Amino acid sequence: MRHSLKRLIWFVSSCSLLQAATPSFDGNRAFTYLTIQTDMGPRNPGSRGHAACIQWLMETGEKWADTVVTQEFTGYNPYGPDNVSLTNVIFRFQPKNPERVMLSAHFDTRPVADLDRFRRNEPILGANDGASGVAVLVHLAQILAQFPPAIGVDIAFWDGEDMGRPDYPEEFCQGSRYYSQTPLEPVPHRGILIDMIGDSELQIFYELYSLRFAPELTKEIWDTAKKAGYADVFIPKHGPMVYDDHVPLSEGGIPTVNIIDFQYPDARRNYWHTHEDTPDKCAPESLQCIGDVLLMWLYGQE
Ligand SMILES: [Zn+2]
Repeated sequence: MRHSLKRLIWFVSSCSLLQAATPSFDGNRAFTYLTIQTDMGPRNPGSRGHAACIQWLMETGEKWADTVVTQEFTGYNPYGPDNVSLTNVIFRFQPKNPERVMLSAHFDTRPVADLDRFRRNEPILGANDGASGVAVLVHLAQILAQFPPAIGVDIAFWDGEDMGRPDYPEEFCQGSRYYSQTPLEPVPHRGILIDMIGDSELQIFYELYSLRFAPELTKEIWDTAKKAGYADVFIPKHGPMVYDDHVPLSEGGIPTVNIIDFQYPDARRNYWHTHEDTPDKCAPESLQCIGDVLLMWLYGQE
């Protein structure tokens, strides 16, 4: 009796050891990082939520990254009377390793709801457009701290992505543009940007700038998604062309793919750049899918 109890205890403890030895992504955990951000309110530059989000990212990075680097600069604000202070926050893992990749997302949210029917001059909450990508990357940082990867990784959180007026691309992506002019050494060889990946009806097509700047990496990611069991989400067909942070990054020398679901939620309705961009339109399952694919891709790198 005592012997079999011992065996049972041994069996249970070795099972939990086995579990602990494999990096795995928890979509529900990531979703809590999404609502931590939306609970701060809108995170448009100059707002209280924006300052709180930078503080949270820095504290999180101190816990899990090898080093945290911030880049502060002055951004152009076409909607406000004054220019604004912007801050990129970059978590570095193995900061001296020249073999490295970059994962990134923007953390700022849109200062206006220009596609809404109401309250167009007020900032949006940005659960999907802002918080979703950050949520996945913060949880990935937590996993990287526990399971150091074979290569160096920079996880960058861009500021000032969503500040522009429509038809003025140079007013968008201010953080990634600043970075591409002042990159951290050693510079990553390639990168993945995630944006608007929290939509509960997730479908991701090839984004056309990504195919232009990083065709091989694009195919590699869609192949990885298929292997991970997400062939129904990652559709290997041409999708939209979206001016996003991957454009300045790629032009600056880091070929970067944008994983983005630009139909939010579908062809008939639109929550993008409206006050409808709230956590209830997002799902832990979607964060789980993106996290699984990034983990599988990241730990397959050598
Ligand atoms: Zn946006």
